[in-house]
Amino acid sequence: MKYQVLAGKLSKIEVTSKRTEMTNHLVELFKATPPDHIRDVIGLIRGSPYPDYEDFQYGMAEKMVIKSIANATGLTTNQIVEKMKEKGDLGKAAEEELAIKKQTTLFTKLLDVKYMSETLDKIGRTSGKGSVDTKIKLLAGLLTNASPLEARYIIRTILGQMRLGMADMTIMDALAIAYTDNATNRPIIERAFNISSDLGLIAERLVKEGIESVKDFKVTIRHPIRMMMAQRSGEKEEIFAKLKGTFIAEFKYDGERLQIHKDGETVLIFSRRLEEISEQYPDVCEMVRAQIRANNAIIEGEVVAYNVETGELRPFQELMHRRRKYGIKKTMKAIPVNLFLFDLLYLDNKDFTNKNYPLRRKALEKIVNETEQLRLAVQKEITSEDELEEFFESAVEKGCEGIMAKSIQEESIYQAGARGWLWIKFKRDYKSEVADTIDAVVIGAYVGYGARTGFYGSLLMACYDPIENQFKSVCRMGSGFTDEHLETLQKLLDQYRVSKKPPRVIIKNSTVPDIWIKPTIVLEVQAAELTLSPVHTCALDMIRKGSGLAMRFPRFTGRIRDDKTAEQATSQQEIIDLFKGQLKKIE
Ligand code: AMP
Repeated sequence: MKYQVLAGKLSKIEVTSKRTEMTNHLVELFKATPPDHIRDVIGLIRGSPYPDYEDFQYGMAEKMVIKSIANATGLTTNQIVEKMKEKGDLGKAAEEELAIKKQTTLFTKLLDVKYMSETLDKIGRTSGKGSVDTKIKLLAGLLTNASPLEARYIIRTILGQMRLGMADMTIMDALAIAYTDNATNRPIIERAFNISSDLGLIAERLVKEGIESVKDFKVTIRHPIRMMMAQRSGEKEEIFAKLKGTFIAEFKYDGERLQIHKDGETVLIFSRRLEEISEQYPDVCEMVRAQIRANNAIIEGEVVAYNVETGELRPFQELMHRRRKYGIKKTMKAIPVNLFLFDLLYLDNKDFTNKNYPLRRKALEKIVNETEQLRLAVQKEITSEDELEEFFESAVEKGCEGIMAKSIQEESIYQAGARGWLWIKFKRDYKSEVADTIDAVVIGAYVGYGARTGFYGSLLMACYDPIENQFKSVCRMGSGFTDEHLETLQKLLDQYRVSKKPPRVIIKNSTVPDIWIKPTIVLEVQAAELTLSPVHTCALDMIRKGSGLAMRFPRFTGRIRDDKTAEQATSQQEIIDLFKGQLKKIE
């Protein structure tokens, strides 16, 4: 099949915004495509010979592309840049220049689709020394043989600027019509796409073996499955109604979702966008290799940064530092992670996506050796609103942003690529940064490990209650310290170490520190927000029975408030007011 047929259709699709028209053009194109070329054609329409999850890139910056056009047309790079400015698009610039040149050229070879795919593949795969020149030559070779219109799309493909405004759904509609004469077969194709993410492969199967074969499409290890998503609700009644009265609630961890494929000793990790990101998480790969007992499996979980000193989970933003290709070993140490597993989609060559959630979770539990870093998502069966409320609070207290309520009914399959009511997220409804910093008093310290051996790892902080003349705990703070802070604070706090709990300090047993500090030193603390807390004693029972208030993700700002006495620290009442202010902001 000739690439010019494809380019002709692309030029028609480009100028319409009507989905039905786009579909019709594609149907005509697919009908004219020989079976052996369909995979290439799908690739060329989508801009890459490979499915999105393959980390395939052409590796040609605009400058290199300009050089290729110069080679093919005999123009200077400056002339091409001028033309690009005039046209606003390098594809169109190349098209016009080639049109002028072709008037004087006698012979060109017609590009065919297979040759195009192979050459694009070569351009992407060429790397190392001399690769810049090779890539420029390969592209120039294509352009020399291209018609002006073809050149437009070749350039846009290489630069990742197809801009057809066409969704995968339209391609699937067209495949259904072209090859089954029936648009209602699209969901079958869609399901296959959702579990394999490879439209070229599905199209080829459809053309060669028919729709029945696509119906039988199986989950395949190393092919990412499009992720199931959740609806949201802030109404408890709605959650109970949608999930039929009884359901599983799980901690909703605030990190990055990973889909992990273990195939023997090979571990591949895919992001929510189905990009392969295994190299960002060598530690996760190792955990999975060591702790998952299965020959092959596809599992999902949330990876969360944590503080080694306190064991506390860290905000999602910390994971950003992991987004890099180089120096990952260092980052791995600086930003250690926990993995919380919550689903199993495939196990020892069996597809689990059509099984209900309780079965999937049970199978997952069987293959996981839990460790400190690798755990199953905490979950609980919920049958009443009180249970839900209590579970929600414990999730928030543990540094989670809320909970996920999941159906345990027979129909609770893994709905690949869909956002349905089988999963419902229930987040905290009061979300906002605490506008003000809080001046809190140090009442205790926990010994440090790892990089903080010999120093205090984290500090127990309190607010002051002038009515009772007591210091009540409000958070455990382990972030924001530089090495210098650690040293200074160590010296300062050592002067106020006492062997027993100071009488005016009120805390719960679960927060007893390694070292008691007489309430003297005031530090400035910034927190993401204030939350209800079952472990801290600030405002205990005053907003809700059994709960106090705590600062979430507390961080030392670097300011030691030596201008304040302990009794001048932020008071309990101020914290209550800040918390109520937060709630008002949402209303
Ligand atoms: P959202 O990103 O707000 O749409 O919430 C859905 C996301 O929550 C998922 O994509 C996961 O990344 C994350 N998540 C955290 N904990 C869980 C859990 N226990 N089950 C499912 N998803 C979870």
